[in-house]
Amino acid sequence: MKQRIVLLGPPASGKGTQADRLSAAYGIPHVSTGALLRSECARGTALGKEADEWTRQGLLVPDELAVRIVTAWMEEHGTSFLFDGFPRTTGQAEHLDASLAALGAPLELIVLLELNEAEIRRRMLGRLSCLGCGATCSISLHDLREGDPCPRCGSKLVRRADDTEEALGQRLRVYRELTLPVVGYYEGTAPQLLHRIDAGQGSDEIFKKLSAMVRGE
Ligand code: AMP
Repeated sequence: MKQRIVLLGPPASGKGTQADRLSAAYGIPHVSTGALLRSECARGTALGKEADEWTRQGLLVPDELAVRIVTAWMEEHGTSFLFDGFPRTTGQAEHLDASLAALGAPLELIVLLELNEAEIRRRMLGRLSCLGCGATCSISLHDLREGDPCPRCGSKLVRRADDTEEALGQRLRVYRELTLPVVGYYEGTAPQLLHRIDAGQGSDEIFKKLSAMVRGE
């Protein structure tokens, strides 16, 4: 079983949903840097306030801040993880490789969820997120409204401050310019670990494919 996994992909490609399902099925902790940052922000911590200045605009927080939050997580929880939304830049990928090499625990699987921009837009503008557990729900699929309770944990569902038409263009540009190069980085350093999945397929189909990869089949 793979223990150190990175899920890459544009916003709304289903990374969080699939990471949740994999985590429940295989017991590998799901670590979303976006959710960690949103929780810091909701608690009003200094780190959360600093991060909010960037995330609100659809921009990435500085590498140093993203690396700090992930390092703290690994110190507390160890080196079994499913990263969703990290690394987001080649600088973060290099940093992660160095940290894991020092711990003698290299990455074991990297999966890119690929989705076209029209579908990304449709999904991002039609979803609500839970501030409690981080779940994402489709407004039309689940017939939900902002303020409704989360079907999973009962906390309030909100539209993310960066799931807006204004932030969307920025987030797509940031993905193309800063995060897609991470795929090139792994093509160069760990091509045997890198797999691609069409994220336009149904959630169950994607989960089946990911499961086989996690089990090393
Ligand atoms: P996400 O929930 O993964 O879409 O992340 C939401 C926002 O959090 C992003 O648009 C960034 O502003 C910030 N963020 C999350 N992960 C990272 C990261 N690894 N590096 C920089 N910023 C991040």
